[in-house]
Amino acid sequence: MAGTGPHEVVVIGGGYAGLTAAARIGETASGVSLTLIDTKPEFVERIRLHEMAGGSTPRALPYEDFMTARHGRFVQAKVMSIDPGRRRVLIETDHKGQSEVAYDTLIYAPGSYTDRQTVPGADRHAVCLDMADGSAALYARLTGLARTGARTGGTVLIAGGGLTAIEAACEFGERMTDLRIILAPGRNFAPGTKPGDLSKAGFDHVIATLERLGVEIAAGARIARVQPDHVDMEDGSTIAFDVCLWAAGFLVPPLAADAGIEVTQSGQIVTDETLTSVSHPDILAVGDAAHVMTEIAGKCRMSCAAGRPMGEGAARTFDARLNGARPDAFTFGYSFRCISLGREDGLIQFVDATDQPVEEVWTGKRGAVWKEYICRRALAGVGFDNDLGPPPNVPPDTPPEIS
Ligand SMILES: Cc1cc2nc3c(=O)[nH]c(=O)nc-3n(C[C@H](O)[C@H](O)[C@H](O)COP(=O)(O)OP(=O)(O)OC[C@H]3O[C@@H](n4cnc5c(N)ncnc54)[C@H](O)[C@@H]3O)c2cc1C
Repeated sequence: MAGTGPHEVVVIGGGYAGLTAAARIGETASGVSLTLIDTKPEFVERIRLHEMAGGSTPRALPYEDFMTARHGRFVQAKVMSIDPGRRRVLIETDHKGQSEVAYDTLIYAPGSYTDRQTVPGADRHAVCLDMADGSAALYARLTGLARTGARTGGTVLIAGGGLTAIEAACEFGERMTDLRIILAPGRNFAPGTKPGDLSKAGFDHVIATLERLGVEIAAGARIARVQPDHVDMEDGSTIAFDVCLWAAGFLVPPLAADAGIEVTQSGQIVTDETLTSVSHPDILAVGDAAHVMTEIAGKCRMSCAAGRPMGEGAARTFDARLNGARPDAFTFGYSFRCISLGREDGLIQFVDATDQPVEEVWTGKRGAVWKEYICRRALAGVGFDNDLGPPPNVPPDTPPEIS
């Protein structure tokens, strides 16, 4: 890594993973020129997008200030392509058109987005929780459907049976009591299956909460096609909607695959134990767009829980290399999943280090308070908040370990 000028570090993507890496490098490394590139001007708490669609106001978290405070710079642009041979990324900005940015080390963290490609019509007729302005627009649409009286307003169909779909269904069920909310989890809630790999206690609590909040569950069949005002189910039935929210799986951007970097079938960069691309040693990959195996956890799932520690790990790998040392392997193990079930309820599902659920769960207000704390803790972990305060003391139990 030795050179004459400053070592050029370019980070693609300011999500939980990429921004954590950028922050730690900016705070610790010297002789480095650090650039963060993202399409939007502000960090978005992606794990709160369903809350924003339910009416919560997002915090303003501008990248520019964040990076300047860490001796780096922020470029608002879309990365169009990577040229690993020349160590360049091609970017496009609204004002200046296309230009190139050179790197010595690239940190690849463009994350993921909702899969609206697999089921026909979803891209045209369904909305998703990918962007803050999308969540705000969804909130405006939902309030426009409101009527007076329980469940007499419009119908919101939520497609998906994983944690994002459950969180959205509970959020709307609790906060928009005049709307009819239908959750279509496909085969996910069929007998013998559990959404998001929950324990029996966790699954039972989710079902009880959905029922308490008046969410209807259309389980059993998958959605075969999305039409402008209804979905066709694979069993021949249809469900009418005013708004269809798609929350059924994530895809990763094709940037790495298009550049000839070694990727998995889904397009995640294949990394070694130090988060380094196996085909391009000057590229580190983190977050949802990285395929990362650890000794303790096995394959890391797409999550903020794993992505943010990966950002820390990439910064450590970079620091070791910059100083001519051998980087340590990235270590990570899971301890719990936290799921918001509206503002007043939540589920902390404890898991073993490999992410398999154990029976213990925290539910109700205790779960909600912990979930909120963990969202704030994730933000503080990136570097935005230094005034997090102690963990909540309801009830006075030993707090779970927080990665
Ligand atoms: C509603 C919701 C709730 C969730 N709740 C949880 C939870 O409770 N716990 C949990 O662990 N996970 C949760 N997740 C998943 C979690 O949000 C993601 O796994 C996590 O955000 C991934 O982090 P990341 O940094 O890899 O990518 P992202 O957060 O997706 O960030 C990627 C960044 O890259 C930028 N980018 C992408 N392409 C380009 C490009 N070409 N050029 C420039 N910039 C680009 C994007 O603008 C974005 O800022 C939730 C997801 C959703 C949608």
